[in-house]
Amino acid sequence: MIETIVQEGNQYIMNTYKRVPVAFVEGNGCYLRDTEGQKYLDMIGGLGACGLGHNHPVVTKAIQQQAEKLIHVSNIYWIKEQVELAKLLVENSFGDKAFFCNSGAEANEAAIKLARKYAYKKYGENRNEIIAMTSSFHGRTLGTLSVTHNKKYQEGYGPIPTGFKFSNFNDINCLKSMINENTCGIIMEPIQGEGGVTASEVAFIKEVKALCEEKDLVLIFDEVQCGIARTGKLFAHENYGIEPDIMTLAKALGSGVPIGAIVAKDKLAEAFNPGDHGTTFGGNPLASAVALATMKFIIEEKLWEKVEAKGKYFAEKLEEFVIKYPWAKKVKGKGFMVGLELEIEGAPIVEKAFDEGLLMNCTAGKVLRFLPPLVAEEEEIQKTVDILAEIFHEMGEEQ
Ligand SMILES: *Cc1c(COP(=O)(O)O)cnc(C)c1O
Repeated sequence: MIETIVQEGNQYIMNTYKRVPVAFVEGNGCYLRDTEGQKYLDMIGGLGACGLGHNHPVVTKAIQQQAEKLIHVSNIYWIKEQVELAKLLVENSFGDKAFFCNSGAEANEAAIKLARKYAYKKYGENRNEIIAMTSSFHGRTLGTLSVTHNKKYQEGYGPIPTGFKFSNFNDINCLKSMINENTCGIIMEPIQGEGGVTASEVAFIKEVKALCEEKDLVLIFDEVQCGIARTGKLFAHENYGIEPDIMTLAKALGSGVPIGAIVAKDKLAEAFNPGDHGTTFGGNPLASAVALATMKFIIEEKLWEKVEAKGKYFAEKLEEFVIKYPWAKKVKGKGFMVGLELEIEGAPIVEKAFDEGLLMNCTAGKVLRFLPPLVAEEEEIQKTVDILAEIFHEMGEEQ
């Protein structure tokens, strides 16, 4: 069966991914099963989207119950589930108001538009520049490509929207040197994902916050990957004791059902008036009901506390590899956003792990990345570590 899927996939699907020749047909918790009946331990969780793992009863029930009532109506009407979701997000964050869309890139687009509109209304049209960070990833639309640092994503798509600059990440002097009277805001991931699972340094992010307050710059935190209980707090910036003006969310928000959101302080949110921004599907009854059920579960269970403890356990286990193997450089990330930086290419290891039934990935070439479902237990972590231990043992100390 998989041969046909691969062959027809190559024939009918655009070639935008180098795909692993496997197709999954069902999932349960941290496990997936493929068309051939093989079972896999999923430690990448739909690249962070499957926060509650696969086939979680809370999620399944929310989809079923909502599908039986109402799937979609336009945003020209009030949507009860969307209002409830907004209320929950606001009550559990720094924000005052939310806007819903369908993906992380769309959330960042909305955040950039909102930041610019705010500055436009207050300071006029020249104040439109947004500063992003090196190694950032904010999405694949033309707008978000302009704040995504890796040039390989932009190649061949020019002209890319202008008015964007990059500061070295974790380098406050570099950032300061880029700010001028046209600077509108700063966009950054509190903990970078695609760029290599790199956390902001405490001093850096606090100085960024202070700078934004001093100069009335809009601070946008992209929490598409690091938000929603992933880093041991409900939102990653809570680790630093500071707040942004706008936060973007997606990935785990809908447990795999596409939904994105921006949450903002009133001061910013007021810049949007009817007609200024919109979306057909954003926050529709189905997506909102699933996100609402997901968020309620996460908040009731205080899932971030469990993630913090289990993330520590995972990191400690990985540290042992760093001690043992000279080519294993360091453990990165926080909570269940876990990276193991190597001196060597990570792709062959990801392939070997796949052969052993373990799903993970590699980012920035040399960083093995794990985004386990937030519900993963010590047992799954131990199993992951055992599989890695075997692979690493075969590789040996010399590389
Ligand atoms: C995945 C990701 C995005 C893009 O989200 P999409 O839903 O794929 O558009 C944006 N920012 C960060 C930090 C991400 O990890």
